[in-house]
Amino acid sequence: MGVVVGVDIGGTKVLAGAVDPDGRVVRTASRTTPGRRGVTCEAEDALVSAVLEAAGGRAVAAVGIAAAGFVDSAGERVVFAPHLPWQGEPLRELLAERLGCPVALDNDANCAARAEAHHGAARGAAHALMVTMGTGIGGAVLLRGEVVRGASGMAGEFGHMQVVPDGRPCECGRRGCWEQYSSGNALVRRARSLMTEQASVLASGGDPDVVTGPMVTAAAEQGDRVARAAFASVGDWLGVGTANLVAALDPEVVVIGGGVSAAGELLLAPARDALSRTLVGAAHRRVPRLVAARLGPRAGMVGAALLAAEGQPRR
Ligand SMILES: [Zn+2]
Repeated sequence: MGVVVGVDIGGTKVLAGAVDPDGRVVRTASRTTPGRRGVTCEAEDALVSAVLEAAGGRAVAAVGIAAAGFVDSAGERVVFAPHLPWQGEPLRELLAERLGCPVALDNDANCAARAEAHHGAARGAAHALMVTMGTGIGGAVLLRGEVVRGASGMAGEFGHMQVVPDGRPCECGRRGCWEQYSSGNALVRRARSLMTEQASVLASGGDPDVVTGPMVTAAAEQGDRVARAAFASVGDWLGVGTANLVAALDPEVVVIGGGVSAAGELLLAPARDALSRTLVGAAHRRVPRLVAARLGPRAGMVGAALLAAEGQPRR
């Protein structure tokens, strides 16, 4: 019996892993990807070669792909991806022909949510939301145990919900989007702004522009007041936006993933406070658990393998 391989492909790296039926990663392989300016066949070459190495010489039964971009609702194409070279090619079919096995395709946040639902922080929950905090905010909706892709495949793009009318301009061309107030970029922006007004270990380099998200996290862990205030702000906005999502979808659990979630309670404690404070009917309902993702940077890859395995007989 062949192996199921999950692949997470982003702007800089493709990570492939043979994943067993219990979600354990048996063997991984990675390649650099050519990015947006590269040609599509180079990205496909990198992907195929990583899949074969991850399979370790065994036959490949099925491949799941988690792509950092918009994937159509049928799971056939990457419609648009800011950091990948594909734009509407029938990628699933092309790769299935080339690899000689079934291929499944979805976006990375949906795949990460699948992995967290089966093996991570949302295990056992029928209704769950995933909010992924990286540079911006992505996410996924899980209802009755199924990922909801939506009519255009774009469900879960929570980062562009407007939370402040006429607020900060966003890269999407609109104003006041949630990710302008709660994301890795928002965290860094807030810290840079506060450090011009208050003493902070972040100012030791002299130049606010060199401050990064991990630097803010490290400073906050050391008790730096500016860094802690930046997390309090971003965490508060995380809770406010989550309250809107919970009002619409009523999940049991909200899983916070992405790079910023590595800060743990620095982010989650203020978010829980804001969620309880702003959620409609909070006194009369169970406020959903707000927890950190468990599977880390492998979640997309594991979830892609789960998606591929859905069409396979249980081994
Ligand atoms: Zn936006």
